Amino acid sequence: MKKEIEVECPECKKKVVWDSANPSRPFCSERCKLLDLGAWADGSRAIPEQPDGLEFSAQNDEPQSEY
Ligand SMILES: [Zn+2]
Repeated sequence: MKKEIEVECPECKKKVVWDSANPSRPFCSERCKLLDLGAWADGSRAIPEQPDGLEFSAQNDEPQSEY
């Protein structure tokens, strides 16, 4: 018994069956996958990056804050 799982393509919102044979999943197609990756590379969907290292700099949190 095989159950099909449907997901929405993050790029075009088309319903797409989650199939392990589909290398583009969760995208509906290679094209949408590339479009999405392009958006990332573009910086329009950038992940907020951690500054060098994860060390705390408690004193330096908001340089511009004024009281
Ligand atoms: Zn798509």
